[in-house]
Amino acid sequence: MRIILLGAPGAGKGTQAKKLSLKYNIPHISTGDIFRANIKNGTELGIKAKEYMDKGLLVPDELVVELVTVRLTQEDCKRGYVLDGFPRTIPQAQALDIALDRTGERIDCAIEVDASDMAIIKRMSGRRACPVCGATYHIVSIPPRKEGICDNCGAELILRDDDKPETVQKRLEVYHEQTQPLLSYYKDKGILKTVDGVKDADETFKDIVAILGAISA
Ligand code: AMP
Repeated sequence: MRIILLGAPGAGKGTQAKKLSLKYNIPHISTGDIFRANIKNGTELGIKAKEYMDKGLLVPDELVVELVTVRLTQEDCKRGYVLDGFPRTIPQAQALDIALDRTGERIDCAIEVDASDMAIIKRMSGRRACPVCGATYHIVSIPPRKEGICDNCGAELILRDDDKPETVQKRLEVYHEQTQPLLSYYKDKGILKTVDGVKDADETFKDIVAILGAISA
């Protein structure tokens, strides 16, 4: 099963992608996570990506496309994958199609996790991340056992630069301008489905599983 998760930053794509990865035993490929790992390791890619990420902007297509298309050729992607945060522009989607055509593969479903800007702003201001192990929390819905401290490694939790309110606002603008056109792109291909991302994450997940079940039946 090859799945794309679409939706604004903070709509809950990451949470759903992790659940899908576990249920279907397919890799969860998050370009945001790949960039954050590169930033943490101080790689050249990380240094370049951080410049854009901290401003709420998209990393240029050429830096993203190669990264993902190479990742998709790895052995663990043979049975499928869930793409979280890629593609984010029409050129990225076209590049993905070209790469898939080469291997005679296709995306089975593009799922839009839908949430209003207001719901997203409320949700993202409560997000906290561990700068050491990368674990993520939410002060209301997924609080750490001890306030402000990572359950896994004991490090002090932070509000990521790209989750700060002014950056979130910019990221939403960028989403509407550059990523939202992908909804029509996949609708035209007949593979777009939409789920409500504002309700409880387990409920949203049930909706996604029902959609995927109907497709593979
Ligand atoms: P995410 O964790 O998916 O919200 O991504 C965090 C940030 O990484 C985004 O705001 C972008 O700056 C960058 N990023 C992640 N995926 C992409 C992509 N496919 N194209 C361009 N930039 C991306």
